[in-house]
Amino acid sequence: MPDPIRDTIFALSSGRPPAAIAVVRISGPRAGDALTVLAGRLPEPRKAALARVRDPASGEAIDEALTLWFPGPNSETGEDIAELQLHGGRAVIAAVLGALGRIEGLRPAEAGEFTRRAFENGRLDLTAVEGLADLIGAETEAQRRQAYRQLKGLLGKRAETWRARMIEALALVEARIDFSDEADVPEDLIGPALKIVQGLRDEIAEALAGAARGERLRDGLVVAIAGPPNAGKSTLLNRIARREAAIVSPIPGTTRDVIEVHLDLDGYPVTLLDTAGIRDSDDPVEQEGVRRARQRASEADLVLWVYDAKDGPAQSEALPLVGSVTKWMVRNKVDLLASDKRNELKKNNEFNISSIVFYLSATTGIGVAEFLAQLGDYAKSYFGAESSLLTRERHRKALNFTQSALDRALAEGPSGHEDILRHLLCGPVYRPNGDSRKLRARQAREPALAARRSARSALRRRR
Ligand code: GDP
Repeated sequence: MPDPIRDTIFALSSGRPPAAIAVVRISGPRAGDALTVLAGRLPEPRKAALARVRDPASGEAIDEALTLWFPGPNSETGEDIAELQLHGGRAVIAAVLGALGRIEGLRPAEAGEFTRRAFENGRLDLTAVEGLADLIGAETEAQRRQAYRQLKGLLGKRAETWRARMIEALALVEARIDFSDEADVPEDLIGPALKIVQGLRDEIAEALAGAARGERLRDGLVVAIAGPPNAGKSTLLNRIARREAAIVSPIPGTTRDVIEVHLDLDGYPVTLLDTAGIRDSDDPVEQEGVRRARQRASEADLVLWVYDAKDGPAQSEALPLVGSVTKWMVRNKVDLLASDKRNELKKNNEFNISSIVFYLSATTGIGVAEFLAQLGDYAKSYFGAESSLLTRERHRKALNFTQSALDRALAEGPSGHEDILRHLLCGPVYRPNGDSRKLRARQAREPALAARRSARSALRRRR
């Protein structure tokens, strides 16, 4: 029977071959043996050594490699880890992975299995694992910064301090319940407990206030390009994305689905959506495109309402269709207007609304740089300079749950219901949607037990 934990696993840890270098990692109790079989010997721990890698069956040399040896438990997975840095050709990698697969007790790792072992061996907590996934997926500087802080325990450490303070508050409540008949127990233990709860509640509320920003930073600021057909929306998207991402066509109504382009604007992630031209149509396919366009635009963070400079503001009639999202007016094709006409337009606020208006040409590029600079500033102010503590829906939901328990504790506490207070501080256990796994009883009781121990020793110290 294969033992999922005791098996030694291996995988190509670097990107798709061919490449200059390929990194093969081996983790588990037989990692050291496997490296010895392939490379002849184990290098000194944590020191790179050059070695000839041979096929153990035929003795034939496969490649020269740098070998590394990280004995557990102070390794990334908490187990013994061996690493080979090979030349990154397909045949080299296939030969090495093939040779490893023939060693008893070794098998290819499943996706994420190295990280899973790190988690199970207490090398990374769940927030750090999430940070690691985000760091690998990070496409922009701001995303990288946020993910790195998460990996380094920004949220995990804060959650630990919250937990410690919760236990401190609970200890006071426990002392009040269990030892109140003893003469030297101070009368008011609930007051100080509620003070701690209030402080915690405020901190958690503050963290929750930045949650939407943190989650958005993972996905990107969503900017929808909307407007009437043939206004130049696809052309503008292509110019911004600098590649042919959307079909540009002189026939109105060609962009029938929503096209997405991910951009890095001054380090901030922006997802640009090119939507179908929003107008009335009898064509059912186009109607569907318009329906999707309106929906995506109304869910966006910013809508760029593009229209043809020649046609003027009459084309803004459909504008309210995209809802109450912030909108910027983009008057496109200004290359078709004489420059005096252009200047005249700029002077008059044709919409009589406090919206930003841009004058540009998607085909010639006039005004596009200024427009992008403003969009970059908008993304920057949207995300703010500071990384958010919470980055996922999971964090937000768990802390919303905590916050409402703390709110109830603050409401119940002063009325002297100590049992209710105790229940609110340690009783409810957050379970993510659909997760029916029961926390082990011991784990659920653990905060209460810790609180009781801490209450006893606090009382002992007072005596
Ligand atoms: P969409 O339906 O809004 O996506 O419009 P398209 O991007 O498909 O453009 C419609 C037509 O307008 C195409 O023939 C484009 O080449 C043309 N067009 C787009 N932007 C400009 C511009 O800035 N100047 C000029 N002269 N033509 C443009």
